[in-house]
Amino acid sequence: MQLILCSQCGLQIHRSPYQIARSSIFFCSNKCHTLYKYGPETIKKRFLSKIEKQSDGCWLWKGVKNRKGYGQFGIDSKMLSCHRVSWKLYRGELPAGVHVLHKCDVRNCVNPDHLFLGTNKDNVIDSVHKGRRSQGIQHFRAKLNPDKVRTIRKMFRSDKFLKIKIARHFEVAVGTIKAVLDGITWKHVE
Ligand SMILES: [Zn+2]
Ligand SMILES: [Zn+2]
Repeated sequence: MQLILCSQCGLQIHRSPYQIARSSIFFCSNKCHTLYKYGPETIKKRFLSKIEKQSDGCWLWKGVKNRKGYGQFGIDSKMLSCHRVSWKLYRGELPAGVHVLHKCDVRNCVNPDHLFLGTNKDNVIDSVHKGRRSQGIQHFRAKLNPDKVRTIRKMFRSDKFLKIKIARHFEVAVGTIKAVLDGITWKHVE
């Protein structure tokens, strides 16, 4: 028998040379084994190994996706929605029935900063935005008006939309949205 360390807690344990030759990880208990395999740090590491950070801030999921284009992540033989996993890993608990929605409109993005918790109503609003875009209605150089400007400010203040998402919704450039929000244009609109 040889003395080696538990891969999770570092406790000294005895294993035969045969066992040592067969594996590189050892555990003092089932509890340590489970923690090693499914503990938050392990899950986070595995989660991060499947994303690709983009220059626009989105973390694109490179793993399995479902038919709707949402990333899927397996924990303990269950498949979970990646953006929900991301929320749990980085933000904490997720009450049942609460939706995790995207500020950025990129379905397989899992950047916690691009996510927010919403109600079913928010989810419907979100689908309407997506539906409008998927119908392919394109207004070349769509113009803003005072009503739109007020809505833009309200959307941004709600912290549920990134500038890029607002820009896509109004079919204008992101720069146009930035200028509105920074008070460079449309200053006279209350
Ligand atoms: Zn241990
Ligand atoms: Zn994103």
